[in-house]
Amino acid sequence: MRFPWSRRSAVPDDWRELAARHVADWGTYDPPDQERLGALMAELIDGHRWEPARGFELTDRMRVVIAIQASRLVLGLEGGTDWYERITTIVVHRSVLRFDRVEPGPVEGTEECGVVHLDGQTSYRGPVVISWDAASRNARHPTRGRDVVMHEFAHVLDMADGVVDGTPPLPPSQLERWVDVFTDAFDRLEEHGSEVLDDYAGTDAGEFFAVSTETFFTRPLQLAEAEPELYDLLRAFYRQDPAAAATDR
Ligand SMILES: [Zn+2]
Repeated sequence: MRFPWSRRSAVPDDWRELAARHVADWGTYDPPDQERLGALMAELIDGHRWEPARGFELTDRMRVVIAIQASRLVLGLEGGTDWYERITTIVVHRSVLRFDRVEPGPVEGTEECGVVHLDGQTSYRGPVVISWDAASRNARHPTRGRDVVMHEFAHVLDMADGVVDGTPPLPPSQLERWVDVFTDAFDRLEEHGSEVLDDYAGTDAGEFFAVSTETFFTRPLQLAEAEPELYDLLRAFYRQDPAAAATDR
């Protein structure tokens, strides 16, 4: 049934052009996947509240770039954008965010389960906050290996089971190997650093998963080479093979 008072979609007609122009590795997706990403993007744009930080104005380009990058994580996941249903609002700042600490929680004396960075913030049952400067720069230059949107939305996937522990909900058959491989890679990063993962991954298990996810999508060939087992687990979880897509290009 269509209601006459349905909200108009905020998805711009030229979203394909915006994606092709502003997301550098858009061309690694074949046309059916681009359309599927477009459908997920539309769900994110129309299904969530989007707010600009004070004194800032949201544009079509911002919504499309942020929603596309977030959609790439759930392209192969059963449930699609259902993974993001706990997000109350997507807040976009012009540049870096300034927070001293995690926001107080709903109950006095508690803290919101969340993480804060200069470029973004995620909290459980709260907003995802993104710096547009970082998001647009990252989308244009994926080979630098950073993507604040993927990073923050990876935290949302991690939080889907209620805890930020670097392990999203997994089939039991994958869990044991996941813990072994991630623990081993984390220990090696702490001890020797990594040639492909940013040092920030060594902060804790949650950051390790978020940074690994960024690297999986932005520098897949390097990750597959340096951390084949980690790459393999992420490929199984996300049900995508960006290294193969990058090789075929
Ligand atoms: Zn993080």
